[in-house]
Amino acid sequence: MVSIDEAQRLITERIAPLGVETINILRDGADNRVLAEDVYGVEPLPNVPKAAVDGYALRSADGDAPRRVIAEVTAGATPGLRVEPGTAVRIMTGAPIPEGADAVIPVEHTDERDSVLIVQHTLRASENIHTVGQDIAAGQLVLARGTTLGAAEIGLLATVGRVHAKVYRRPVVAVLATGDEVYEPDGAIFPGGVRDSNRYALMAAAREAGCLALSLGIARDDMNVQRAAILDALDRADVLLTSGGVSMGTRDLIKPLLAELGTVHFGRIAFKPGKPTTFATIERPASARSSPLLAFGLPGYPVSSLVSFEVFVRPALRRLQGDARPDRPWVRVTLREPIQPAPDRPEYQRAIVSWEDGRLAARSTGRQGSSRLLSMLGANALLIVPPGTAPYAAGNELDALITGPLAPPGMSAP
Ligand code: AMP
Ligand code: MG
Repeated sequence: MVSIDEAQRLITERIAPLGVETINILRDGADNRVLAEDVYGVEPLPNVPKAAVDGYALRSADGDAPRRVIAEVTAGATPGLRVEPGTAVRIMTGAPIPEGADAVIPVEHTDERDSVLIVQHTLRASENIHTVGQDIAAGQLVLARGTTLGAAEIGLLATVGRVHAKVYRRPVVAVLATGDEVYEPDGAIFPGGVRDSNRYALMAAAREAGCLALSLGIARDDMNVQRAAILDALDRADVLLTSGGVSMGTRDLIKPLLAELGTVHFGRIAFKPGKPTTFATIERPASARSSPLLAFGLPGYPVSSLVSFEVFVRPALRRLQGDARPDRPWVRVTLREPIQPAPDRPEYQRAIVSWEDGRLAARSTGRQGSSRLLSMLGANALLIVPPGTAPYAAGNELDALITGPLAPPGMSAP
């Protein structure tokens, strides 16, 4: 049995970003991809001085004297004129500042009649002018390798004219459910049957982590069937997630199969929920993809499989994509309710965290049973509860991983 830290280390040691591809940000979806290169601005932005407001470009040295309006300049125009002392040019936001002018007065601080401009106040030089390179300097680093591309990042790529950008390849994550009792959610119900929720939940979690999810279906509790499914993953995927079949039962076949086909790095973690979580690597035939298949044997209980995914698999999937920040935010929270720890293992309890009275406050999502998927509902945090026998009282502080947006103050279990 390994500790949580040890398990995370054993996984992280075996992970390097998968590879790089070039995308066209105009054509391909760049959302949530991870940048595989540093991106610099080439030219300064703006590349000429520009009006920051609609108004009049003038010479600040003219003070509050009336000016003669000699022309109008709009955005995109190239003014071939000069603002001489005593004159001004009507100018629109984003238009280049004509030669001679050194300030722009907002239109709402002026009055123009018969081409004579009255200004309501004097201006300092440079007032309301966007100077060259004010937003991005020439040659400035704008995006660093390892950055996840969201709205601002995609906007910046477009701004600096980087139509083609190098991003890390997205991992293909194959997901296999196991169990003779497990059936497709649209199948006919039978006594003792369990609808396969794990495969769908894990595929969604893999996609949320930026991966391409591949379903390998449901494998019966049979060595040959499960072996064939794992070999299928070896052909088609970077990562394999299995659900079920990793505990101590006579029909739990995943651990022996992973040991037969590859190397098991750990098969039990001092961790709740998800003690039997198993991690193995399987080498590929020399001809195929170079890096070994990363295989995670996740527990069958729905909560255990999703919490184990969150703690052990998700950071690995982000690292495989080169994410410079693969981990969830780690914060200190104040308990609003007493929490009962597990006696023997650190437990990651599902919690609702909100901002209350100047601190992060945590409430439980209710009964924490491994089969009670409802305990994940509304949870935006995993509370890291050290083992013990006495409850942690309200007011105590614990560490937590933030997994979703903060809840409204006072929000409790749905
Ligand atoms: P196992 O580890 O295979 O013994 O499974 C533990 C528990 O999780 C059993 O009650 C299973 O019925 C349940 N289980 C296994 N696989 C799934 C699945 N894909 N979806 C929902 N529950 C499952
Ligand atoms: Mg089973």
